[in-house]
Amino acid sequence: MTISTQRGCPYTCKWCSTAVYGQSYRRRPVRLVIEEIKELKATYNPDMLWFVDDVFTVSHKWLKEFHSEILKENIHIPFECITRAERLNDDILQLLKESGCYRIWIGAESGSQAIIDAMDRRVDVQTVKEMIQKTNRIGIETGTFIMLGYPGETIADIKETITYLKEANPTHYTITIAYPIKGTGLYYEIKNKITHQPDWETSTDRDIDFERRYPRKFYDYAVRKVVNEVEYFRNLSHSRWKAYKFKIKSIAITALLKRYTK
Ligand code: SF4
Repeated sequence: MTISTQRGCPYTCKWCSTAVYGQSYRRRPVRLVIEEIKELKATYNPDMLWFVDDVFTVSHKWLKEFHSEILKENIHIPFECITRAERLNDDILQLLKESGCYRIWIGAESGSQAIIDAMDRRVDVQTVKEMIQKTNRIGIETGTFIMLGYPGETIADIKETITYLKEANPTHYTITIAYPIKGTGLYYEIKNKITHQPDWETSTDRDIDFERRYPRKFYDYAVRKVVNEVEYFRNLSHSRWKAYKFKIKSIAITALLKRYTK
């Protein structure tokens, strides 16, 4: 089941929709959240909870109170949440684990610091990588989000993203091709370069396309390139046969990518 404890986010990532809640953040008192969890447990007995909050560990004070209430009330429901790397540390990871957290999504979006800076994400790629590794070590699953096709991204940046994913080694990762959400900094930046904007009643912002360094098709293959390279690496230590299958696909995709970069 999903549960929301906060609205908004104080950070500045240019592509992220802050138009709905604004660039501010409000949090429900811990007491009310605990009451809601107890009610959910009594009524539905959920297997797990998904905190839909943008940055679950944004306030360490709130999290400490949440942890102590969870222990006091003896509520054990495994949960997953999303946060930013620099809002985690050893103590916070320990509190999360003791509160029932089994998976943390830690955003990076790119393995290239140049692209992270272009997004105005205000985080160091090295910090993200180390925090994912640390979270893995403490026994909490990790997930990370990747975005390809952000304005200015080069093939070298994509290679850095592949290296970042191999080294960070998150349990899960998702890859999106950048799209401009109306009202965001990214949207205003590429507004005059929109090449495809279908009718809003029959489409979503994901369908809007804009002029990028490479044709749109390139990015479909780039996603497959990243996945096959990373999966090759991840399988190498336990199934060489499986790993080589990914490598063969990766080599074939490289040939396809070259068609779009001539
Ligand atoms: S991507 Fe995450 S940290 Fe950045 S503005 Fe959006 S919600 Fe906040």
